[in-house]
Amino acid sequence: MPQSRSEVMRRYRQNHQEKCREDARHRANYTYATRRQDGLCSMCGTNRADKASIKCGPCRDIYRQYHKAYREKLMDQIFEHYGRSCACCGEANQGFLTVDHANGGGSEDRRSLNINGSGHNWYAKLRMNGFPNDPPLQTMCFNCNFAKWRFGICPHKA
Ligand SMILES: [Zn+2]
Ligand SMILES: [Zn+2]
Ligand SMILES: [Zn+2]
Repeated sequence: MPQSRSEVMRRYRQNHQEKCREDARHRANYTYATRRQDGLCSMCGTNRADKASIKCGPCRDIYRQYHKAYREKLMDQIFEHYGRSCACCGEANQGFLTVDHANGGGSEDRRSLNINGSGHNWYAKLRMNGFPNDPPLQTMCFNCNFAKWRFGICPHKA
């Protein structure tokens, strides 16, 4: 049976997944590096006015919006899973919320997961690992989280 070109390509990609991914990575890196060198926008390739940035103005906005949407979705999924309000004081404004290690030991856990710093890298890792709960995690507001870290117990509970 004759195969259509797209069918052949599909099968090729299926059998060479690793290589295709690798090629795409190389191409992306190459484009990025040359555009950067030539003073072009790393996303669309137009001549960028502002040489201090690696993206042109419009692309910077798109990129920023994309990341904002990415972060919002990530955080929504995180709080969907670990709770939508602070486990201590009930604060429910997402802007104040973070994820807390219920039994302490957050920095060791992050280190063992090989994560630099905190924040979105860590949240992304949690999502990638299917929202683990061992050690137990819970949603907390920054105030309670900080107080717990600073005093061992939040003043709300002391
Ligand atoms: Zn651009
Ligand atoms: Zn709180
Ligand atoms: Zn508290």
